[in-house]
Amino acid sequence: MSGGDFGLEVLGCNATAPSASGPASGYVLHSELGAILVDAGPGTMAAYAARYELERVRAIVVTHMHADHSLDLMAWAYRWTFPAARERIPLYLPRGAEQALRGFDELYGIPTLPGMHRPIEQSFRVTTLEMDGDTRHELPGWTMISFEARHAVPSAALRFERAGRAVAFSSDTGDCPGVRAAAAGSDLFVCEATWIDEPDADSAGHGHLTAAQAGRIALEVGTRSLLVTHLADRSASAEALRLAAEQFGGPVRIATAGMRL
Ligand SMILES: [Zn+2]
Repeated sequence: MSGGDFGLEVLGCNATAPSASGPASGYVLHSELGAILVDAGPGTMAAYAARYELERVRAIVVTHMHADHSLDLMAWAYRWTFPAARERIPLYLPRGAEQALRGFDELYGIPTLPGMHRPIEQSFRVTTLEMDGDTRHELPGWTMISFEARHAVPSAALRFERAGRAVAFSSDTGDCPGVRAAAAGSDLFVCEATWIDEPDADSAGHGHLTAAQAGRIALEVGTRSLLVTHLADRSASAEALRLAAEQFGGPVRIATAGMRL
């Protein structure tokens, strides 16, 4: 992808952990102004660094602090502070993430290296996402709005707008008003479908969707195209695609590592 293009690239989309099918969750929004990373799951930094200059990153947004979406923040912090410190990267996180970040620094800070006493603190300029569906953050190349998703921990559905186009991310979530508002009328909706088709899958209230629910939400909120991601069982991709498409009726794809749209 050349510097002038804009669009979405999947670094990884596994719901479990890095595996043969690639890293855990991580996406890049490209524009001529650089790259915005959405999620930093394990393996995504290596995937990014294999393809692009690290300096192209303008901001990192983490939807929620589960490890499969956030663990590579520490990898970024080490790379960002060693061997030489760089200008801090804007980092957007849901409420409650500060404690996890402090924990990272307490565990992995290196007291004998001045640039790495607290690698996270020294790498990032942190902003807490409002998740109010209203506040607009101007990021290089994109305007970002965050919404309250429904998950076991604070979780932000995201909407990025640029030149009259919108890309939405569900984060990990059950069906809820926030994810629907984020995706409403979007050109591309990146929606989790952790489960394939289990009617009681979310009965414990953890907050995940099935492929059929992803398709139904996309239809009901009028999104133009659907990218189904975060499958717990990738061997069931064809079935997930069928179930989502059956509900949605519009263009649907299953995310794979390295995919560009
Ligand atoms: Zn999660």
